[in-house]
Amino acid sequence: MTIRLTQLDGKLPNLALMRLSAWHKARGDDTVLMRSPYRRMDEPTYDRVYGSAIFEFSARAVERLKTEWPDAIVGGTGSGSWQTLEQIGVEDFGLDYGLYPDFAASIGFTQRGCRLNCGFCVVPMKEGKPKAAATIAGLYRGAPWPKHLHLLDNDFFGGPEWRDRIEEIRDGSFKVSFTQGINIRVLTNEIAKSLASIEYRDDSFRQRRLYTAWDNIADETPFFRGISRLEDAGVPPQHVMAFMLVGYDQSETWERLFYRFNKMVARGVRPYPMVYGDKKQILPLGGSNDRIGHKTIGDFQRWVNTGLYRALPFTEYHVSARPRVKEQGDFLEGAAA
Ligand code: SF4
Repeated sequence: MTIRLTQLDGKLPNLALMRLSAWHKARGDDTVLMRSPYRRMDEPTYDRVYGSAIFEFSARAVERLKTEWPDAIVGGTGSGSWQTLEQIGVEDFGLDYGLYPDFAASIGFTQRGCRLNCGFCVVPMKEGKPKAAATIAGLYRGAPWPKHLHLLDNDFFGGPEWRDRIEEIRDGSFKVSFTQGINIRVLTNEIAKSLASIEYRDDSFRQRRLYTAWDNIADETPFFRGISRLEDAGVPPQHVMAFMLVGYDQSETWERLFYRFNKMVARGVRPYPMVYGDKKQILPLGGSNDRIGHKTIGDFQRWVNTGLYRALPFTEYHVSARPRVKEQGDFLEGAAA
């Protein structure tokens, strides 16, 4: 059989498609990875078509794929289907890294689920309370691959075996990217020390980087308590990138948004806005700054994520000059912690 695996969003390798590919190959099938929901002129007739979408903004791509191949099996958080691979009869034959020949790291989950319950997030509903999923030895592809780990855990330190995982990371001299972020609101001194003891990295394994989030203005105290604990343990705020959800809070104003933003910048934390819903939303002012009312939260996101905020104030940012930058979905594969 010839199988089309369609990755509709996300920059990182798609675990579900890798598992599907390994399973099909074990049955003697050929698999091909495609990124587009459109049927190319030169594509063969497939015996089966799969699609995977992580983000809700991929709804149109999901629709397009189903128009091209009405029998396509589409899953993932952004597909509207909660069907699991087990439910469609896919057995565990590991991951087919061959789908991503340029990807040298190892990827996966050491735990599933989350202790918290953020209103915009499906993880607690889909996965429930934290449970262990795999060891580091189980995730690592082995030599000669670099000891680089993309951990997709939504609540690494909520996992019941996190101390063992940290020991494995440290003793094995792994570099690790906590791609989904760590839960800074429940970060203890012990966790801070553990983080300081390992080689945490950004998603390209070049820079020291920890990802976290400050989504709700009401979480200011636990957020900065976590930053201070990290700093005391030896992790400077400059190593921290904080996703800030924008457009979700019904009472959001420019003033409230800039409160979060300015606090983080003043502390040395790097903000990374993630827009919830419509990027064209214009927030009410909520304060005295009457020159930003016409700009959208998408403009704010670009201004920050291009780094232009370091060079000029938002009021002087001309929205017509919009360089292509990493945006939501290019970067983070799931919910911000
Ligand atoms: S956003 Fe992060 S912390 Fe909140 S429920 Fe989802 S996974 Fe947990």
